Amino acid sequence: MDFTILTLFPEFIEQGIHTSILGKACDKGLLSFKAVNIRDYSADKNKRVDDYTYGGGAGMLMQAQPVFDAYMANCVHEGKKKPKTIYVTPQGRPFTQTIANELSKEEELVFICGHYEGIDQRVLDEIVTDRYSIGDYVLTGGELPALVMIDAISRLVPGVLGNDVSADIESFHGNLLEYPQYTRPEVWHDIAVPEVLLKGNPKQVDSWRLDRSKELTKKVRPDLYDKYELSLRVIDELSKDKKSNIHLLEAIKRGTGEIISTNPLMIYIPQAGLVFLNEGINVSKEQSLKEIDAGRIFELLPEKARICISTKEIFDILKDDSRFEFYCNVRNAVYTENVHKKIKNKNIKQLDLSYVEILSENYGHGEDGYVKDRIERGQVYGIFVEEKLAGFIGTHYEGSIGMLFIFPEFRRLGLGTDLENFMINRELELGHVPFGQVITDNDASFALQDKNGLYLGKQIFTWFGIK
Ligand code: SAM
Repeated sequence: MDFTILTLFPEFIEQGIHTSILGKACDKGLLSFKAVNIRDYSADKNKRVDDYTYGGGAGMLMQAQPVFDAYMANCVHEGKKKPKTIYVTPQGRPFTQTIANELSKEEELVFICGHYEGIDQRVLDEIVTDRYSIGDYVLTGGELPALVMIDAISRLVPGVLGNDVSADIESFHGNLLEYPQYTRPEVWHDIAVPEVLLKGNPKQVDSWRLDRSKELTKKVRPDLYDKYELSLRVIDELSKDKKSNIHLLEAIKRGTGEIISTNPLMIYIPQAGLVFLNEGINVSKEQSLKEIDAGRIFELLPEKARICISTKEIFDILKDDSRFEFYCNVRNAVYTENVHKKIKNKNIKQLDLSYVEILSENYGHGEDGYVKDRIERGQVYGIFVEEKLAGFIGTHYEGSIGMLFIFPEFRRLGLGTDLENFMINRELELGHVPFGQVITDNDASFALQDKNGLYLGKQIFTWFGIK
Protein backbone atom coordinates (compact mmCIF):
# COMPACT_ATOMS: atom_id res chain seq x y z
CA MET A 1 0.00 0.00 0.00
CA ASP A 2 1.35 3.43 -0.95
CA PHE A 3 0.95 6.50 1.28
CA THR A 4 1.63 10.07 0.13
CA ILE A 5 1.55 12.70 2.85
CA LEU A 6 1.36 16.39 1.95
CA THR A 7 2.76 18.38 4.88
CA LEU A 8 4.79 21.42 5.90
CA PHE A 9 6.90 19.17 8.16
CA PRO A 10 8.05 16.10 6.17
CA GLU A 11 10.77 15.30 8.75
CA PHE A 12 8.03 14.86 11.41
CA ILE A 13 6.34 12.23 9.21
CA GLU A 14 9.65 10.53 8.26
CA GLN A 15 10.54 9.95 11.90
CA GLY A 16 7.19 8.35 12.64
CA ILE A 17 7.11 5.93 9.75
CA HIS A 18 10.61 4.60 9.59
CA THR A 19 10.67 2.97 13.00
CA SER A 20 9.42 -0.36 14.37
CA ILE A 21 6.68 -2.31 12.59
CA LEU A 22 5.97 0.28 9.89
CA GLY A 23 9.68 0.59 9.10
CA LYS A 24 10.01 -3.18 8.75
CA ALA A 25 6.89 -3.36 6.55
CA CYS A 26 8.52 -0.72 4.33
CA ASP A 27 11.70 -2.77 4.06
CA LYS A 28 9.62 -5.80 3.07
CA GLY A 29 7.92 -3.75 0.34
CA LEU A 30 4.44 -4.08 1.89
CA LEU A 31 4.14 -0.33 2.48
CA SER A 32 5.70 2.74 0.90
CA PHE A 33 5.69 6.32 2.18
CA LYS A 34 6.34 9.60 0.46
CA ALA A 35 6.32 12.77 2.58
CA VAL A 36 5.96 15.80 0.30
CA ASN A 37 6.89 19.29 1.51
CA ILE A 38 4.05 21.61 0.47
CA ARG A 39 6.41 24.61 0.82
CA ASP A 40 8.49 23.33 -2.13
CA TYR A 41 5.48 24.07 -4.34
CA SER A 42 4.86 27.65 -3.22
CA ALA A 43 4.82 30.08 -6.16
CA ASP A 44 5.78 32.92 -3.80
CA LYS A 45 9.39 34.14 -4.13
CA ASN A 46 9.85 33.87 -0.35
CA LYS A 47 8.19 30.42 -0.29
CA ARG A 48 5.30 31.65 1.83
CA VAL A 49 2.42 29.20 2.16
CA ASP A 50 -0.03 31.10 4.43
CA ASP A 51 -1.93 34.39 4.59
CA TYR A 52 -4.59 36.20 6.62
CA THR A 53 -8.19 34.93 6.50
CA TYR A 54 -10.83 36.97 4.67
CA GLY A 55 -13.46 38.30 7.04
CA GLY A 56 -10.97 38.63 9.86
CA GLY A 57 -10.20 36.30 12.75
CA ALA A 58 -7.12 35.19 14.58
CA GLY A 59 -4.37 33.21 12.88
CA MET A 60 -3.19 32.45 9.38
CA LEU A 61 -4.55 30.07 6.77
CA MET A 62 -2.69 27.83 4.33
CA GLN A 63 -3.19 29.03 0.75
CA ALA A 64 -4.78 26.96 -1.99
CA GLN A 65 -1.99 27.24 -4.60
CA PRO A 66 0.90 25.36 -2.91
CA VAL A 67 -1.41 22.59 -1.66
CA PHE A 68 -2.97 22.16 -5.09
CA ASP A 69 0.35 22.14 -6.95
CA ALA A 70 1.91 19.68 -4.48
CA TYR A 71 -1.13 17.44 -4.98
CA MET A 72 -1.08 17.61 -8.78
CA ALA A 73 2.66 16.92 -8.95
CA ASN A 74 2.67 13.93 -6.59
CA CYS A 75 -0.76 12.36 -6.40
CA VAL A 76 -2.31 12.54 -9.87
CA HIS A 77 -0.94 9.99 -12.29
CA GLU A 78 -2.06 9.84 -15.89
CA GLY A 79 -4.31 6.91 -16.70
CA LYS A 80 -4.77 6.01 -13.00
CA LYS A 81 -7.88 6.67 -10.95
CA LYS A 82 -7.73 9.48 -8.41
CA PRO A 83 -6.59 8.10 -5.04
CA LYS A 84 -8.65 8.55 -1.89
CA THR A 85 -7.49 11.89 -0.55
CA ILE A 86 -7.94 12.40 3.16
CA TYR A 87 -7.90 15.75 4.93
CA VAL A 88 -7.35 15.29 8.65
CA THR A 89 -9.48 17.86 10.42
CA PRO A 90 -11.47 18.27 13.64
CA GLN A 91 -14.50 18.79 11.35
CA GLY A 92 -14.20 15.29 9.87
CA ARG A 93 -16.04 12.03 10.62
CA PRO A 94 -14.64 10.38 13.77
CA PHE A 95 -11.94 7.90 12.73
CA THR A 96 -12.68 4.36 14.01
CA GLN A 97 -11.39 0.80 13.72
CA THR A 98 -14.13 0.07 11.17
CA ILE A 99 -12.90 2.92 8.96
CA ALA A 100 -9.30 1.73 9.40
CA ASN A 101 -10.46 -1.66 8.11
CA GLU A 102 -12.19 -0.12 5.13
CA LEU A 103 -9.20 2.06 4.21
CA SER A 104 -6.73 -0.84 4.54
CA LYS A 105 -8.19 -2.21 1.29
CA GLU A 106 -7.02 0.79 -0.75
CA GLU A 107 -3.88 0.53 -2.89
CA GLU A 108 -2.97 4.16 -2.37
CA LEU A 109 -3.93 6.87 0.14
CA VAL A 110 -3.11 10.56 0.19
CA PHE A 111 -3.10 12.52 3.45
CA ILE A 112 -3.23 16.30 3.66
CA CYS A 113 -1.99 17.82 6.91
CA GLY A 114 -3.22 21.29 7.77
CA HIS A 115 -1.39 23.80 9.95
CA TYR A 116 -2.11 27.24 11.44
CA GLU A 117 -5.90 27.73 11.22
CA GLY A 118 -6.29 25.14 8.47
CA ILE A 119 -6.45 25.30 4.65
CA ASP A 120 -8.35 27.46 2.13
CA GLN A 121 -11.73 25.79 1.59
CA ARG A 122 -11.57 25.99 -2.22
CA VAL A 123 -8.64 23.61 -2.64
CA LEU A 124 -10.15 21.22 -0.09
CA ASP A 125 -13.40 21.13 -2.07
CA GLU A 126 -11.47 20.42 -5.23
CA ILE A 127 -9.15 17.59 -4.17
CA VAL A 128 -10.34 16.03 -0.89
CA THR A 129 -12.49 12.88 -1.01
CA ASP A 130 -12.74 12.08 2.75
CA ARG A 131 -12.34 14.07 6.00
CA TYR A 132 -11.53 12.42 9.31
CA SER A 133 -10.99 13.64 12.86
CA ILE A 134 -9.01 11.63 15.39
CA GLY A 135 -10.90 13.07 18.36
CA ASP A 136 -12.73 16.03 19.81
CA TYR A 137 -9.71 18.22 20.52
CA VAL A 138 -7.61 20.57 18.43
CA LEU A 139 -3.96 19.87 17.64
CA THR A 140 -1.45 22.32 16.15
CA GLY A 141 -1.12 20.38 12.91
CA GLY A 142 -2.33 17.39 10.90
CA GLU A 143 0.93 15.40 11.12
CA LEU A 144 0.05 13.51 14.31
CA PRO A 145 -3.51 12.69 13.14
CA ALA A 146 -2.13 11.48 9.78
CA LEU A 147 0.43 9.28 11.57
CA VAL A 148 -2.23 7.91 13.93
CA MET A 149 -4.43 6.94 10.99
CA ILE A 150 -1.53 5.54 8.96
CA ASP A 151 -0.46 3.36 11.89
CA ALA A 152 -3.98 1.99 12.48
CA ILE A 153 -4.51 1.32 8.74
CA SER A 154 -1.06 -0.16 8.03
CA ARG A 155 -1.27 -2.83 10.71
CA LEU A 156 -4.37 -4.20 8.96
CA VAL A 157 -2.57 -4.56 5.62
CA PRO A 158 -1.96 -8.31 5.14
CA GLY A 159 1.56 -9.32 6.20
CA VAL A 160 2.40 -6.17 8.17
CA LEU A 161 1.82 -7.69 11.61
CA GLY A 162 3.44 -10.98 10.72
CA ASN A 163 0.67 -12.79 12.52
CA ASP A 164 -2.56 -11.75 10.77
CA VAL A 165 -4.73 -13.32 13.42
CA SER A 166 -3.64 -10.89 16.13
CA ALA A 167 -5.41 -7.94 14.49
CA ASP A 168 -8.67 -9.85 14.91
CA ILE A 169 -8.67 -10.26 18.67
CA GLU A 170 -7.97 -6.83 20.00
CA SER A 171 -9.90 -3.95 21.50
CA PHE A 172 -12.81 -2.72 19.36
CA HIS A 173 -13.34 -6.07 17.72
CA GLY A 174 -16.66 -7.27 19.06
CA ASN A 175 -17.30 -3.97 20.87
CA LEU A 176 -15.39 -4.92 24.01
CA LEU A 177 -12.13 -3.35 25.10
CA GLU A 178 -9.23 -5.68 25.64
CA TYR A 179 -8.67 -7.31 29.05
CA PRO A 180 -5.55 -6.54 31.17
CA GLN A 181 -2.42 -8.54 30.28
CA TYR A 182 0.72 -9.52 32.24
CA THR A 183 4.21 -10.79 31.47
CA ARG A 184 7.24 -11.85 33.58
CA PRO A 185 8.00 -11.55 36.48
CA GLU A 186 5.17 -13.32 38.26
CA VAL A 187 5.33 -10.87 41.17
CA TRP A 188 6.27 -7.22 40.68
CA HIS A 189 6.06 -4.51 43.40
CA ASP A 190 4.39 -7.19 45.57
CA ILE A 191 1.58 -7.56 43.01
CA ALA A 192 1.07 -11.07 41.66
CA VAL A 193 -0.25 -12.00 38.24
CA PRO A 194 -3.89 -13.23 38.63
CA GLU A 195 -3.81 -16.90 39.52
CA VAL A 196 -6.18 -18.04 36.79
CA LEU A 197 -3.65 -16.95 34.15
CA LEU A 198 -0.89 -19.03 35.75
CA LYS A 199 -2.94 -22.22 35.84
CA GLY A 200 -3.37 -22.18 32.06
CA ASN A 201 -6.85 -23.69 31.85
CA PRO A 202 -7.96 -22.18 28.50
CA LYS A 203 -11.69 -22.13 29.34
CA GLN A 204 -11.12 -20.42 32.66
CA VAL A 205 -8.67 -17.97 31.09
CA ASP A 206 -11.21 -17.06 28.38
CA SER A 207 -13.97 -16.59 30.89
CA TRP A 208 -11.75 -14.43 33.16
CA ARG A 209 -10.71 -12.30 30.20
CA LEU A 210 -14.29 -11.84 29.02
CA ASP A 211 -15.38 -10.74 32.51
CA ARG A 212 -12.52 -8.21 32.75
CA SER A 213 -13.30 -6.91 29.24
CA LYS A 214 -16.95 -6.45 30.15
CA GLU A 215 -16.14 -4.73 33.43
CA LEU A 216 -13.70 -2.34 31.80
CA THR A 217 -15.91 -1.51 28.81
CA LYS A 218 -18.96 -0.87 31.01
CA LYS A 219 -16.92 1.51 33.13
CA VAL A 220 -14.98 3.53 30.58
CA ARG A 221 -17.00 3.12 27.36
CA PRO A 222 -20.70 2.67 28.22
CA ASP A 223 -21.52 3.52 24.57
CA LEU A 224 -19.56 0.47 23.36
CA TYR A 225 -20.99 -1.70 26.11
CA ASP A 226 -24.53 -0.89 24.91
CA LYS A 227 -23.53 -2.06 21.42
CA TYR A 228 -22.11 -5.26 22.92
CA GLU A 229 -25.37 -5.94 24.80
CA LEU A 230 -27.39 -5.27 21.68
CA SER A 231 -25.29 -7.78 19.74
CA LEU A 232 -25.93 -10.40 22.45
CA ARG A 233 -29.69 -9.81 22.14
CA VAL A 234 -29.53 -10.14 18.35
CA ILE A 235 -27.39 -13.29 18.61
CA ASP A 236 -29.95 -14.80 21.00
CA GLU A 237 -32.80 -14.17 18.61
CA LEU A 238 -30.95 -15.37 15.49
CA SER A 239 -29.72 -18.50 17.27
CA LYS A 240 -33.29 -19.83 17.25
CA ASP A 241 -32.50 -20.95 13.67
CA LYS A 242 -28.70 -21.07 13.59
CA LYS A 243 -28.37 -22.85 10.26
CA SER A 244 -30.48 -20.33 8.39
CA ASN A 245 -28.95 -17.33 10.10
CA ILE A 246 -25.32 -18.42 10.23
CA HIS A 247 -24.06 -15.59 7.96
CA LEU A 248 -25.59 -12.97 10.26
CA LEU A 249 -24.40 -14.70 13.41
CA GLU A 250 -20.84 -15.10 12.20
CA ALA A 251 -20.63 -11.47 11.00
CA ILE A 252 -21.50 -10.31 14.52
CA LYS A 253 -19.25 -12.82 16.27
CA ARG A 254 -16.26 -12.19 14.01
CA GLY A 255 -16.70 -8.42 14.48
CA THR A 256 -16.93 -7.74 10.74
CA GLY A 257 -20.58 -6.63 10.88
CA GLU A 258 -22.15 -3.66 12.64
CA ILE A 259 -25.79 -3.72 13.70
CA ILE A 260 -27.20 -0.52 12.27
CA SER A 261 -30.92 -1.17 12.74
CA THR A 262 -33.04 -3.71 14.63
CA ASN A 263 -36.36 -3.34 12.79
CA PRO A 264 -35.73 -4.34 10.09
CA LEU A 265 -32.54 -6.01 11.29
CA MET A 266 -29.64 -4.56 9.30
CA ILE A 267 -26.06 -5.69 9.71
CA TYR A 268 -23.55 -3.69 7.68
CA ILE A 269 -20.18 -5.10 6.60
CA PRO A 270 -18.26 -1.98 5.56
CA GLN A 271 -15.32 -3.95 4.17
CA ALA A 272 -17.62 -5.55 1.64
CA GLY A 273 -20.10 -2.68 1.09
CA LEU A 274 -22.66 -5.32 2.02
CA VAL A 275 -25.81 -5.32 4.15
CA PHE A 276 -27.61 -8.29 5.66
CA LEU A 277 -31.29 -7.47 5.87
CA ASN A 278 -33.74 -9.52 7.94
CA GLU A 279 -37.08 -9.15 9.61
CA GLY A 280 -37.00 -7.21 12.86
CA ILE A 281 -35.71 -8.45 16.18
CA ASN A 282 -38.23 -8.92 19.01
CA VAL A 283 -41.24 -8.36 16.75
CA SER A 284 -43.32 -10.92 14.88
CA LYS A 285 -42.32 -11.66 11.29
CA GLU A 286 -45.71 -10.43 10.00
CA GLN A 287 -45.52 -7.19 11.95
CA SER A 288 -41.98 -6.56 10.77
CA LEU A 289 -42.77 -7.28 7.11
CA LYS A 290 -45.70 -4.87 7.31
CA GLU A 291 -43.30 -2.09 8.23
CA ILE A 292 -40.87 -2.77 5.41
CA ASP A 293 -41.13 -0.74 2.23
CA ALA A 294 -38.58 0.00 -0.47
CA GLY A 295 -38.29 3.72 0.32
CA ARG A 296 -37.59 3.14 4.00
CA ILE A 297 -35.01 0.42 3.30
CA PHE A 298 -33.29 2.67 0.79
CA GLU A 299 -33.08 5.47 3.35
CA LEU A 300 -31.64 3.15 6.00
CA LEU A 301 -28.94 1.70 3.73
CA PRO A 302 -25.45 3.12 4.32
CA GLU A 303 -24.28 5.29 1.44
CA LYS A 304 -21.48 2.90 0.53
CA ALA A 305 -23.57 -0.28 0.51
CA ARG A 306 -23.80 -1.80 -2.95
CA ILE A 307 -25.05 -5.32 -2.22
CA CYS A 308 -27.66 -6.80 0.11
CA ILE A 309 -28.64 -10.23 1.28
CA SER A 310 -32.20 -10.36 2.56
CA THR A 311 -34.79 -12.99 3.24
CA LYS A 312 -36.80 -13.84 0.14
CA GLU A 313 -39.93 -12.38 1.79
CA ILE A 314 -38.24 -9.00 2.13
CA PHE A 315 -36.93 -9.04 -1.42
CA ASP A 316 -40.45 -9.83 -2.69
CA ILE A 317 -41.49 -6.48 -1.19
CA LEU A 318 -38.56 -4.62 -2.78
CA LYS A 319 -38.38 -6.36 -6.15
CA ASP A 320 -40.61 -3.95 -8.09
CA ASP A 321 -38.49 -0.97 -7.10
CA SER A 322 -36.04 -0.06 -9.86
CA ARG A 323 -33.30 0.87 -7.35
CA PHE A 324 -32.76 -2.82 -6.55
CA GLU A 325 -31.68 -5.62 -8.90
CA PHE A 326 -31.96 -9.37 -8.29
CA TYR A 327 -28.77 -11.52 -8.33
CA CYS A 328 -29.60 -14.99 -6.97
CA ASN A 329 -31.40 -17.07 -4.35
CA VAL A 330 -29.31 -19.07 -1.87
CA ARG A 331 -29.55 -21.29 1.18
CA ASN A 332 -26.92 -21.61 3.85
CA ALA A 333 -24.89 -24.82 4.17
CA VAL A 334 -23.31 -25.12 7.61
CA TYR A 335 -20.73 -27.42 9.15
CA THR A 336 -22.00 -27.74 12.69
CA GLU A 337 -19.39 -30.08 14.13
CA ASN A 338 -16.05 -29.26 15.66
CA VAL A 339 -14.18 -32.19 14.13
CA HIS A 340 -11.51 -31.65 11.50
CA LYS A 341 -12.11 -33.26 8.10
CA LYS A 342 -9.78 -35.74 6.40
CA ILE A 343 -8.13 -34.68 3.16
CA LYS A 344 -6.75 -37.07 0.51
CA ASN A 345 -4.81 -34.72 -1.77
CA LYS A 346 -2.87 -32.50 0.60
CA ASN A 347 -1.15 -30.54 -2.16
CA ILE A 348 -3.12 -27.40 -1.35
CA LYS A 349 -1.40 -24.00 -1.21
CA GLN A 350 -2.34 -20.39 -0.63
CA LEU A 351 -2.36 -18.66 -4.03
CA ASP A 352 -0.44 -15.47 -4.76
CA LEU A 353 -1.12 -12.62 -7.16
CA SER A 354 0.42 -14.44 -10.12
CA TYR A 355 -2.85 -16.43 -10.24
CA VAL A 356 -5.23 -13.44 -10.58
CA GLU A 357 -5.60 -13.81 -14.33
CA ILE A 358 -6.25 -17.54 -14.51
CA LEU A 359 -8.71 -17.38 -11.61
CA SER A 360 -10.56 -14.41 -13.09
CA GLU A 361 -10.84 -16.19 -16.44
CA ASN A 362 -12.61 -19.10 -14.79
CA TYR A 363 -14.44 -17.50 -11.90
CA GLY A 364 -15.10 -14.00 -13.29
CA HIS A 365 -14.81 -10.82 -11.21
CA GLY A 366 -11.52 -9.84 -12.83
CA GLU A 367 -12.54 -6.26 -13.66
CA ASP A 368 -14.00 -5.37 -10.27
CA GLY A 369 -10.79 -6.43 -8.48
CA TYR A 370 -12.61 -8.99 -6.31
CA VAL A 371 -10.35 -11.95 -7.09
CA LYS A 372 -7.24 -9.82 -6.58
CA ASP A 373 -8.53 -8.57 -3.23
CA ARG A 374 -9.34 -12.10 -2.02
CA ILE A 375 -5.87 -13.32 -3.01
CA GLU A 376 -4.15 -10.30 -1.45
CA ARG A 377 -5.96 -11.01 1.80
CA GLY A 378 -4.69 -14.59 1.80
CA GLN A 379 -8.17 -16.01 1.31
CA VAL A 380 -7.69 -18.14 -1.82
CA TYR A 381 -6.20 -21.64 -2.03
CA GLY A 382 -5.36 -23.86 -4.97
CA ILE A 383 -5.15 -27.65 -5.24
CA PHE A 384 -2.33 -29.05 -7.38
CA VAL A 385 -1.93 -32.31 -9.27
CA GLU A 386 1.66 -32.91 -10.35
CA GLU A 387 2.46 -29.21 -9.81
CA LYS A 388 -0.44 -28.17 -12.08
CA LEU A 389 -3.25 -26.01 -10.67
CA ALA A 390 -6.31 -28.29 -10.72
CA GLY A 391 -8.84 -26.12 -8.87
CA PHE A 392 -9.30 -23.37 -6.33
CA ILE A 393 -11.50 -22.19 -3.46
CA GLY A 394 -11.71 -19.13 -1.21
CA THR A 395 -13.73 -17.26 1.33
CA HIS A 396 -15.94 -14.34 0.42
CA TYR A 397 -15.98 -10.89 2.01
CA GLU A 398 -18.79 -11.84 4.34
CA GLY A 399 -17.00 -15.00 5.51
CA SER A 400 -18.68 -17.79 3.54
CA ILE A 401 -16.63 -20.47 1.80
CA GLY A 402 -17.04 -20.21 -1.97
CA MET A 403 -15.40 -19.53 -5.33
CA LEU A 404 -14.97 -23.30 -5.72
CA PHE A 405 -13.81 -24.25 -9.21
CA ILE A 406 -12.21 -27.43 -10.57
CA PHE A 407 -10.69 -27.34 -14.06
CA PRO A 408 -12.62 -29.71 -16.40
CA GLU A 409 -9.78 -32.21 -16.86
CA PHE A 410 -9.53 -32.70 -13.08
CA ARG A 411 -13.22 -33.22 -12.30
CA ARG A 412 -14.61 -36.36 -10.64
CA LEU A 413 -11.39 -37.00 -8.69
CA GLY A 414 -12.74 -35.78 -5.35
CA LEU A 415 -10.65 -32.58 -5.50
CA GLY A 416 -13.70 -30.36 -4.80
CA THR A 417 -14.35 -32.34 -1.64
CA ASP A 418 -10.70 -32.01 -0.59
CA LEU A 419 -10.69 -28.27 -1.19
CA GLU A 420 -13.91 -27.76 0.73
CA ASN A 421 -12.70 -29.91 3.59
CA PHE A 422 -9.43 -27.99 3.68
CA MET A 423 -11.36 -24.72 4.03
CA ILE A 424 -13.59 -26.22 6.71
CA ASN A 425 -10.50 -27.14 8.74
CA ARG A 426 -9.01 -23.71 8.21
CA GLU A 427 -12.20 -21.99 9.37
CA LEU A 428 -12.36 -24.24 12.45
CA GLU A 429 -8.77 -23.27 13.29
CA LEU A 430 -9.75 -19.59 13.11
CA GLY A 431 -12.58 -20.26 15.59
CA HIS A 432 -15.29 -19.77 12.95
CA VAL A 433 -18.33 -21.88 12.15
CA PRO A 434 -17.63 -22.94 8.55
CA PHE A 435 -20.45 -22.18 6.14
CA GLY A 436 -21.17 -21.62 2.47
CA GLN A 437 -24.12 -20.31 0.48
CA VAL A 438 -25.55 -22.51 -2.23
CA ILE A 439 -27.60 -21.21 -5.15
CA THR A 440 -31.03 -22.81 -4.83
CA ASP A 441 -30.95 -24.54 -8.24
CA ASN A 442 -27.36 -25.84 -8.03
CA ASP A 443 -28.09 -29.51 -7.41
CA ALA A 444 -24.45 -30.54 -7.86
CA SER A 445 -23.36 -28.24 -5.06
CA PHE A 446 -26.17 -29.41 -2.78
CA ALA A 447 -25.02 -32.99 -3.35
CA LEU A 448 -21.41 -32.02 -2.48
CA GLN A 449 -22.48 -30.22 0.70
CA ASP A 450 -24.62 -33.16 1.72
CA LYS A 451 -21.80 -35.64 1.10
CA ASN A 452 -19.43 -33.43 3.11
CA GLY A 453 -21.76 -33.41 6.11
CA LEU A 454 -22.93 -29.79 5.84
CA TYR A 455 -26.46 -29.00 6.92
CA LEU A 456 -28.83 -26.82 4.96
CA GLY A 457 -30.71 -23.88 6.43
CA LYS A 458 -34.46 -23.73 5.76
CA GLN A 459 -34.72 -20.09 4.82
CA ILE A 460 -34.12 -18.88 1.25
CA PHE A 461 -32.05 -15.68 1.05
CA THR A 462 -31.78 -13.35 -1.91
CA TRP A 463 -28.66 -11.50 -2.99
CA PHE A 464 -29.41 -8.26 -4.75
CA GLY A 465 -27.60 -5.15 -5.90
CA ILE A 466 -28.33 -1.56 -5.06
CA LYS A 467 -28.09 0.55 -8.22
N1 SAM B 1 -9.20 26.02 12.88
C1 SAM B 1 -9.31 24.60 12.91
C2 SAM B 1 -10.58 24.18 13.64
O1 SAM B 1 -11.00 24.84 14.56
O2 SAM B 1 -11.10 23.12 13.26
C3 SAM B 1 -8.13 23.99 13.63
C4 SAM B 1 -6.91 23.98 12.86
S1 SAM B 1 -5.66 23.06 13.64
C5 SAM B 1 -4.95 24.25 14.68
C6 SAM B 1 -4.48 22.82 12.39
C7 SAM B 1 -4.59 21.51 11.64
O3 SAM B 1 -4.38 20.42 12.53
C8 SAM B 1 -5.92 21.21 10.96
O4 SAM B 1 -5.99 21.84 9.71
C9 SAM B 1 -5.90 19.71 10.87
O5 SAM B 1 -5.22 19.28 9.70
C10 SAM B 1 -5.11 19.28 12.09
N2 SAM B 1 -5.91 18.79 13.24
C11 SAM B 1 -6.03 19.41 14.44
N3 SAM B 1 -6.78 18.70 15.29
C12 SAM B 1 -7.18 17.58 14.63
C13 SAM B 1 -7.99 16.47 14.97
N4 SAM B 1 -8.58 16.35 16.16
N5 SAM B 1 -8.16 15.50 14.05
C14 SAM B 1 -7.60 15.61 12.82
N6 SAM B 1 -6.84 16.66 12.44
C15 SAM B 1 -6.61 17.64 13.32
